[in-house]
Amino acid sequence: MAKSIKAFSALILFLLFLVTGCMENPRLQKDSPGTGRAAAPGTTQSNASGSGSDGSRKIPGEAENTVKGLDAADIAKIKPNENGKIMVVMFHNFVQSFTPTKHDDGQYTTTFGDFEKLLPQLYEKGYRLISVSDYLNNNISVPAGCIPMVFTFDDGTAGQFNLVEENGKLEINKKSAVGIMEEFNKTHPDFGLAGTFYVNLGLQTFAGKGTLSERLKYLTDRGFEIGNHTYTHIYLNEAKSADAIQKEIGENQKKMYELIPGYRMVSLALPFGQAPKELQGYVAKGEYQGVGYENAAIMEVGWDPALSPVSKNFNPLSIHRVRASGIKPVNADLAWWLKNLPREDQYVSDGNSDTITIPKSKEGDIDKNRLNGKKLVLY
Ligand SMILES: [Zn+2]
Repeated sequence: MAKSIKAFSALILFLLFLVTGCMENPRLQKDSPGTGRAAAPGTTQSNASGSGSDGSRKIPGEAENTVKGLDAADIAKIKPNENGKIMVVMFHNFVQSFTPTKHDDGQYTTTFGDFEKLLPQLYEKGYRLISVSDYLNNNISVPAGCIPMVFTFDDGTAGQFNLVEENGKLEINKKSAVGIMEEFNKTHPDFGLAGTFYVNLGLQTFAGKGTLSERLKYLTDRGFEIGNHTYTHIYLNEAKSADAIQKEIGENQKKMYELIPGYRMVSLALPFGQAPKELQGYVAKGEYQGVGYENAAIMEVGWDPALSPVSKNFNPLSIHRVRASGIKPVNADLAWWLKNLPREDQYVSDGNSDTITIPKSKEGDIDKNRLNGKKLVLY
């Protein structure tokens, strides 16, 4: 009898686990001040103030490593793997409805309706949003058993975000990706409200009401990040000189400083996913008209999930992205990966941002120099 009760409780626990996709650990939440886990994970206060993130910022709670790790039973249940893959999702256009044409089959277009369905689907599967900065800095704070995910948005299209005027006041357009994310956040605050917008400030950006500065500020005030996508979305591999590359990337940063003083963009998404190999150094770092820039990360136009920031193969200057599912499904888009990427290959969090927990068998796959002061827990 006792045996069957035990089996029954195990089944219930397992079903609960399936429903939420990840397991909250109240003990860890209680004991770890300053990690901001309960508040939207991944919101980057450092950038919210416009000060930018320099890749070396102090991690809250880093010094006081007082939190105990998961116990053996939790580990057996959750099987954390913080060297697993993280999907960095790449979005482009958002529209109300879409009719495919000869020139555009909608591969890069998502309807508002599909996005509204996607968020709860990701939530149920245990995904939680983190920012690009937190990913790069290995400052990942999501509940135990959850899987971090990064949202990126290219080109500054109006469907991603725009402002409208209501009763003489600027408001976010609820029919936009950010509007939908904010709405979802009201009922699911633990999903996180984070994302990086790769913009071309020499082109129309988030077309709608308000000044460009007001639009960008709306996003940065809420912890969203702005990244570089060049000033006019050029083919970088056609830029034949270091000067041309520095002008396109540097001018975008210069404009950003004019719009939000002090805001330094720390990552870049390659327009068309291309860059000249011989001039790659200037994509990462350079200067234009006295304004310097440095991209700690370069986002590719991509095809597969990215590596954990502790992986020995992690290369921040070539971060792979998973393309959001468009109107036309294609292999290796987000829906495809959600079906085909096994849980054991993904970054499953131990719920404690002060420790990196991985199976002992994977010890050789990480670079211990990337632990960033965190304690390595092997099991
Ligand atoms: Zn683009």
